[in-house]
Amino acid sequence: MARRRQLYEGKAKILFEGPEPGTLVQYFKDDATAFNAKKKGTITGKGVLNNRISEYLMTRLTEIGVPTHFIRRLNMREQLIREVEIIPLEVVVRNVAAGSLATRLGIPEGQRLPRSIIEYYYKNDQLGDPMVAEEHITCFGWAATQDLDDIVALTLRVNDFLTGLFLGVGITLVDFKLEFGRLWENEEMRIVLADEISPDNCRLWDAKTGEKMDKDRFRRDLGKVEEGYQEVARRLGILPEAGPRDMSGPESMQ
Ligand code: UDP
Repeated sequence: MARRRQLYEGKAKILFEGPEPGTLVQYFKDDATAFNAKKKGTITGKGVLNNRISEYLMTRLTEIGVPTHFIRRLNMREQLIREVEIIPLEVVVRNVAAGSLATRLGIPEGQRLPRSIIEYYYKNDQLGDPMVAEEHITCFGWAATQDLDDIVALTLRVNDFLTGLFLGVGITLVDFKLEFGRLWENEEMRIVLADEISPDNCRLWDAKTGEKMDKDRFRRDLGKVEEGYQEVARRLGILPEAGPRDMSGPESMQ
């Protein structure tokens, strides 16, 4: 297949022009960054695992009626997605105190929150993705009040569903980050879930031991980073077909 035109390269993914108008190809890299790209590294096989994990979770969410940009996985490292206008927000949901919440407010890491919290961060690398309030979002036009209502409703559904799904395989969904986009269909705009859902943007702890199976293994130099991601895929029953060593790609599945 001829190489498609590259439209955007981010820290962990590349977007290419898709085969039809209104579609894109999302390519998952092994590159990892943390602390606003101050820490950089490679996690071998991460792209393959995240492509598969995100496909699985987006598909399950579609089945319960959550609209997403996901169309289908193309090969080991690529998926076909709908082109959306990304809303410049990182929507973080927290069920258990960890990371920046624990540090900023002095809440012990691991403390279950009495109710889930939604936080917004303005997606802007130069500013280091600052936390913002609803007032900033509507005042600066990043999203309208109605958009935010839709985002909150979708986020809470995703959180409830994924919390149960992960608990079913012995994993606590501590917190995670979502991104949303605007999709136009016949003059109508819908807010849909975009980006990816993977151990790169979720905190996933073993429900019994508390062992971390997510990007914190990389951020905090805990070792066995690949193994953490693999264990998440294994528990979800979706380790790549040829096993964890088959991390080359892309490979056509058609
Ligand atoms: N997160 C993310 N991208 C970011 C910042 C956070 O995917 O740029 C995710 C992160 O993996 C975690 C959740 O959002 O699951 C909450 O992150 P936190 O605010 O604690 O920041 P961190 O400790 O990751 O800097």
